[in-house]
Parts: sequence; C-alpha cells; structure tokens
Amino acid sequence: MERKLLSKKIIDVCLEMTRLGLNQGTAGNVSVRYNDGMLITPTGTPYENLTESQIVFIDKDGNYEAGKVPSSEWRFHRAVYQARPTANAVVHNHAIYSTAVSILNRPIPAIHYMVAAAGGSSIPCAPYATFGSKPLSENVFQCMKTSKAILLQHHGMIASEVTLDKALWLAQEVEVLAHLYLKTLSIQDPVPVLSEEEMTIVLEKFKTYGSSIEE
Ligand code: 13P
Ligand code: ZN
Repeated sequence: MERKLLSKKIIDVCLEMTRLGLNQGTAGNVSVRYNDGMLITPTGTPYENLTESQIVFIDKDGNYEAGKVPSSEWRFHRAVYQARPTANAVVHNHAIYSTAVSILNRPIPAIHYMVAAAGGSSIPCAPYATFGSKPLSENVFQCMKTSKAILLQHHGMIASEVTLDKALWLAQEVEVLAHLYLKTLSIQDPVPVLSEEEMTIVLEKFKTYGSSIEE
C-alpha cells in the first residue's frame, strides 16, 4: 500500500480506537511496518486533529523526518517488529480494564478460549519502566516474543497483527478479556481457567480460524 493510504488507515484506526472506548486524549499510538522502518503517529497529538502529512516515517536506526516528532514510544514499536517478524501493525492504548489488570501486575490467564487470539494460553504483563524509555522497549521485546498482545504494567496494552484492522480487533478482544477477568476476579480468586490441554486444542484451531476474512 502506498504511504498516503497507509497514513490515512493509521488515522482511521486511531479514531476507531477512541470510538470503541479503548483510548482517550493523546494516550496511545499506532504504527505500520514500512520499508526498512515504520510509519507512526506523531507524539502528543489528539487524534481528531491528525492529518496524513503528520504521520512520521522512522527508519530502523531511529532516524526520522525533519520537522516531525514521532510517538515517544517509537522504540517499543520497533521492538515489536523485531520480536515478531510476521507483525506489520502495532496498536497501543491505555484501555481502562487492560490497564487495571496491568496495575495488579497479573497476566490474563486462560479464563476464556479467546485468550488464544493472542497466540498463547495467557496474555502476559511486561514489567514497568518509564514511558518512552529504552528499558521499556527491552521489556516489550522480551514479552512480545511470547505473545501477539501484552499488558504493560501501570501503563496499558499493546496488540500486534499482520494488518492494522486485525491489530485493532485484537486490542478490542484483549480489553473484553481484561473486563471479564476483573469481573470474575472480584468474586473468586484465582479465577477458574481452561486446562492447558484445552488451550492447546484451541490454539491449533486458531491457526485457521478467520482465515477467510479479507486482510
Ligand atoms: P505519544 O503521544 O508520544 O504517542 O505517547 C502516548 C503514550 O501512550 C505514551 O505511552
Ligand atoms: Zn502509553
């Protein structure tokens, strides 16, 4: 896809993220893999005001276009692409329930079969480090090697997928699971979970689930 179209798609996903209640204000950021780097949202810009020309290209060495400033989290976006060669899009937000679980510093366990959408039998939580920092990107790199989506302790969540639409879909799924986890956790701790055997079956089914959906 050409740059202008991808930039428009990034903005559409940002606006949709807010519409879905996954984000607020200037929190969160979105990127797509592009050439030897990525296209990413600029730092500190409310999504409603975003224009295609404001989307920033940043190469694999962290060089970006003069006159633009990329998201403060460009390092962790790059870390996701390094950790997951099949990922082409990354969505980050501070969705309420996912962030609440991250504050409890718990992974989301196999409370529902849809946990497998993130590629494993739980959705891990990466240890805290200051936003925009190198240590945070190192924590993200380690954690994303094991999952397409993760929580960030005291911060929010990240979802990655082969397309922007799928990354947004996964982010929404993670938020639903985090909501379910919190609802059930307030009644019973630990929350009952599916067995490893069942999750292995579900993970196998997920390899072909939805493959007829257009990318
Ligand atoms: P940016 O506005 O720099 O993308 O930062 C938002 C954010 O969520 C930081 O973690
Ligand atoms: Zn953030």
